[in-house]
Amino acid sequence: SGVTVETDVAIIGAGPVGLFAVFECGMLRMRSVVIDALDAVGGQCTALYPEKPIFDIPAHPAIDGAALIEKLEAQAAPFNPLYLLGRRVERLRSLDDEWELGTSAGDRVRAKAVIIAAGAGAFGPNRPPLAGLPGYEASGAVRYLVARREDFRGKRVVIAGGGDSAVDWALSLKEIAAHVVVVHRRPKFRAAPESCVRLEEAAARGEVEMAIPYQLHGLEGDGTRMTGVVLATLKGETKTVPADHLLPFYGLSMELGPIAEWGLGLERSHVTVAPSTCMTNLDGIHAIGDIATYPGKLKLILQGFSEAAMAAHAIHPRVFPGEALHFEYSTSKGVPVA
Ligand code: FAD
Repeated sequence: SGVTVETDVAIIGAGPVGLFAVFECGMLRMRSVVIDALDAVGGQCTALYPEKPIFDIPAHPAIDGAALIEKLEAQAAPFNPLYLLGRRVERLRSLDDEWELGTSAGDRVRAKAVIIAAGAGAFGPNRPPLAGLPGYEASGAVRYLVARREDFRGKRVVIAGGGDSAVDWALSLKEIAAHVVVVHRRPKFRAAPESCVRLEEAAARGEVEMAIPYQLHGLEGDGTRMTGVVLATLKGETKTVPADHLLPFYGLSMELGPIAEWGLGLERSHVTVAPSTCMTNLDGIHAIGDIATYPGKLKLILQGFSEAAMAAHAIHPRVFPGEALHFEYSTSKGVPVA
């Protein structure tokens, strides 16, 4: 499964900086493919603060995270980037004078150059540290999101966590599941007050079983088919609840993951680059935005934008060997109409 594509520049990360890199590459007639672990573009702006205003984007006295991403996407659109979302770049290998990226969805992206705009790493769910977890994840017994609510009809479901996702899914799944248990470390939930009241009422009516204060302790089953979840109090008293599914809702975190294993120069989980080209120690691999570091680096969106321009100009001779690049302003060149 997965797609096989060839492009000029493969961009890892669809955060604000990766999106602007599409524009900068496009202005130099370089096509791009953008890959992100999240299902949506926007990186931290989308995942962590869509409604928070940002005050230091030039020419925008205030713009919230989601609005900035919408504008960056529109600015990139005329260059028709291919977005491969919801998949993580796992592998990087060199092929003659090109590079090939492999994703968790089985895609193969061949490119003349790579721009790593991976922020603090790929977003993914926080996983509970339980023995045997990978087997139950692979079989779908443990899931971190509910893609199809119907999958849980008539099933015994354990939901772990104390935020909005845990509370909202408990309220929703109790309607169709055979049994729902909510596991939380403390009596207080960090969710919309109205939903918390509804959950308490449902628990009082016996529609949801509350396991408080408990945390996840283990999984029971044959390694793929789950039969129960073991819970423990902070004092170590355990009990097992019968279950077909476990849904841990512990939020998102970022991890550098595979990028750390590609032989790139690293400094405290950041990729070291030459400041004027953003090139890494590997020829044709550049890093920009939060993930890139050099003396004087500022982790700001505006700095990432300028790095996108520098990387695109540095890459141009690889994509168009022997062709002189005459510097032009965007106004004299014109942008194709989307
Ligand atoms: P990110 O936004 O982190 O995006 C990187 C993307 O790469 C992610 O979507 C990730 O899933 C993806 N990725 C990583 N590894 C892989 C992989 N292997 N495969 C596939 N995808 C991968 N900055 C400002 O300038 N002004 C502000 O006011 C401001 N306020 C902030 C407020 C908060 C609460 C936070 C958390 C940050 C704030 N920042 C602010 C910082 C700003 O958000 C970051 O500098 C910016 O998001 C960096 O952009 P980026 O594109 O480099 O990386």
